[in-house]
Amino acid sequence: MSPQEAPSESTSEVTDRWPDPGSLLIENGCVVTVDDSHTVHDRGWVLIDQGRIVGVGPGEAPASARSAGKVVDAAGMAVMPGLVNAHTHLFQSFLRGLADDKPLLEWLEAAIWPVAKELTGPEARAASRLGLIENLRSGVTSVIDHQYVHTDTAIDDAVCESALETGLRFVLARGWADMDYHPEFMEDADRVLAEGERLRRRWQGAGEGRISVELAPLIPWGCSDEAVRRTVARTREWGVGTHIHVNETREEVQMNLDTRGNRPIEWLESIGALGPDLQLVHSVWLSDHELDLIAENGGVVVHCPVSNMYLASGVARVPEMLERGIPVALATDGPGSNNSQDMFETLKVTALLQKVHHLDAMAMLPATVLDMACRGGATAMGLPDDLGVLEPGRIADVILVGLESPFAAPVHRVESALVYNCGARDVDTVIVGGRVLMHRGEILCCDEAEAVAEAQDVCTGLFHRAGVATHLPDRMKSPRTQPPRR
Ligand SMILES: [Zn+2]
Repeated sequence: MSPQEAPSESTSEVTDRWPDPGSLLIENGCVVTVDDSHTVHDRGWVLIDQGRIVGVGPGEAPASARSAGKVVDAAGMAVMPGLVNAHTHLFQSFLRGLADDKPLLEWLEAAIWPVAKELTGPEARAASRLGLIENLRSGVTSVIDHQYVHTDTAIDDAVCESALETGLRFVLARGWADMDYHPEFMEDADRVLAEGERLRRRWQGAGEGRISVELAPLIPWGCSDEAVRRTVARTREWGVGTHIHVNETREEVQMNLDTRGNRPIEWLESIGALGPDLQLVHSVWLSDHELDLIAENGGVVVHCPVSNMYLASGVARVPEMLERGIPVALATDGPGSNNSQDMFETLKVTALLQKVHHLDAMAMLPATVLDMACRGGATAMGLPDDLGVLEPGRIADVILVGLESPFAAPVHRVESALVYNCGARDVDTVIVGGRVLMHRGEILCCDEAEAVAEAQDVCTGLFHRAGVATHLPDRMKSPRTQPPRR
């Protein structure tokens, strides 16, 4: 069902599958605003109208707010801005667990490339739908998908179709590589720009403004200077960002030193690419000079701690980034190097990794982690003034998280509970642009059971064609060996 076709709702509690963005009052919750002062209203309310937040306050909601079309009781829950998963690869939803325990370059060869070569549009749609539902269940309202499989142009469209269907806020960061990469995935700059223009015409602003398209050089060692210059110039004309994996491993930094004579951030600065619109994914192995260059020129670091641990890449210098005023967003990375899209897990790991690395229990505090997940994410989305904080005027991307489950209770400090106690299992309600996509733990925007079954079915056929061995129990094997046709 498209948003435009949805029936309007007149009852006080949310019951229909895709409610219109009328007025909605959330009351009796613990409101974690994530504002500059980290204001928390132990009991408070949030009023939404026409997709925007129009009121936030402590105590009882004012009488005028009680005439809202819908009222959601958030007693026993935190009410907070939706989390931003600022970097993933949704097509990898089929690849989790496939090549565990390998470093980055071996992992690409063993798992990612063989399956990616065979991927079709319908398969990408099934994988991305599953991945978006998983994001939604973990309290994510915005996703940046670094989509770099272009053996079939239908794949990009299929991923955007999933975003349109599920209703999340979504950036398609259209990946590319033009040198020294797997031959079947390389494209020249002319093709990247032509495809980018086509995708932009079809998808920019779709879903009532929820979907955006930007370009995304995959890695410095796979992208020529000239192609990066041209594509960054084009995204700046479009007024959107550019997304790139950078300084993920020591080996990749050394490759840039060997081939270009400088470190990756120095290279980006030297070709005019470094700027506030650049999303620097990973940024694990940064020198002091590179940190200074980002602070001076702008750029958002997208920190993926679970992936960095999973692939044994290293520990990013997050406290030093924050000290220099560099915006930092958080992300899961693709399911191939995380096995999950659980942003609550990422919140906890973000804090724990810095603590153990610095042998300092104060190295990363919960309020800072929430700041990165919400406000840093808003900056990565290119919407620093519209997302990330519960305050009047901002877009109504809001989640409710249960604080009274056996996993979370008792709660002494709510920000601490959100980072250390809570998990995706505690996410009760997800609202994007005033629309309720999940409520009381039920996905309202699509058929979740059907999406999981389709993903399982499609995935086994894809792996069979790709010649990738799995160890599925017989009852989960699909007879299908041909790609599905719609
Ligand atoms: Zn990645």
